[in-house]
Amino acid sequence: MKPDTKVLHTGFEVDIKTGAVSYPIYQTSTFKQESPGVHKGYEYSRTGNPTREALENIVASLEEGVRGFAFSSGMAAISAVLSLFSAGDHLVVSEDVYGGTYRVLSKVFSRSGLEVSYVDTSEVSNIEKAIRKNTRAVFIETPTNPLLRITDIRAVAQFCKPRNFLLVVDNTFMTPYWQKPLTLGADIVVHSATKYLGGHSDVVAGLAAVKDGRLAEQLHFIQNATGGVLGPFDSWLLMRGIKTLGIRMERHEKNAQELARWLKTLPQVKKVYYPGLPEHPGHDLHKSQAGGFGGMISFELESEELAERMVRNLKLITLAESLGAVESLISIPSLMTHASIPEEERERRGIKKALVRLSVGIENVEDLKEDIRAAIR
Ligand SMILES: *Cc1c(COP(=O)(O)O)cnc(C)c1O
Repeated sequence: MKPDTKVLHTGFEVDIKTGAVSYPIYQTSTFKQESPGVHKGYEYSRTGNPTREALENIVASLEEGVRGFAFSSGMAAISAVLSLFSAGDHLVVSEDVYGGTYRVLSKVFSRSGLEVSYVDTSEVSNIEKAIRKNTRAVFIETPTNPLLRITDIRAVAQFCKPRNFLLVVDNTFMTPYWQKPLTLGADIVVHSATKYLGGHSDVVAGLAAVKDGRLAEQLHFIQNATGGVLGPFDSWLLMRGIKTLGIRMERHEKNAQELARWLKTLPQVKKVYYPGLPEHPGHDLHKSQAGGFGGMISFELESEELAERMVRNLKLITLAESLGAVESLISIPSLMTHASIPEEERERRGIKKALVRLSVGIENVEDLKEDIRAAIR
């Protein structure tokens, strides 16, 4: 089945009992038991809920894993995955990882003894240099946020396998429509489904999928034990969003390709980061592991003042955190999404103050150009 058909016809067809084409919302916390411990597969909605399970089956199928999990946010999904590790375990993490992931690792999991090294994972040799006797996993994002650096998923998986390290990939920017880390050798994939999978700026959610049955058992245990589950209505909203993932991702990409090329022609723009540009250092690698380049562009303006003025003056493009929505969203990472990273660390990673991150929506691209043109004039 082709990907745009699969996002519509996967996990569930119609409700067996009623024929409903849209999966029913089982807004219930508990389920009647015939006798103690005898039930129809559901006992309590933290442990399992049919609506959430329908969504979890969809993510498992789209990512080609054995089991999917839905959480109350991307950070809840990531925190559940990090809870697989114990005090004294060491992880190697992509250095321009999502700010919230950096924060939970450095301010929360560090307190319970999880050790982390941040490296530029676009070179496998950097991972090799960072490993310790107690290394258990490698956690990557590709493309990264906000500099859109590319890591070779297959090469990192080949490095991890003989050493028994788990490879975790945050696939938020690509979605399984463009990139399927589990098929490239990763063990766990996580998502902020708040972004492209939901797609409509109306739900905060996280997803995970795993490739191995034992890992699935462990993650389900943590999901149920720690309890950051997604509610039935939000699960339904996500399923509704995923139905149009294919056409949305195609349009995001088409607009982003066009805008990235156009931004390069503006004298006020110093640098454009977009993996779809042939001169992007990860262009060929990305093409070898993903079906598209996505809708995220970062660009550096002449000055911090111009960046702030532009985002204030935009009429159509919304100044907001988040990304992956049908409407275009813009942000200044150093002041917004990445503000929790200390300044010197941010500068070292190349997240300059004049850097702007644009999540290209599905509007007509000519209107987006006109909005940017007017705002920087
Ligand atoms: C937004 C985001 C997260 C966190 O997800 P929430 O749904 O906001 O908790 C994690 N990773 C990436 C790449 C993100 O963009």
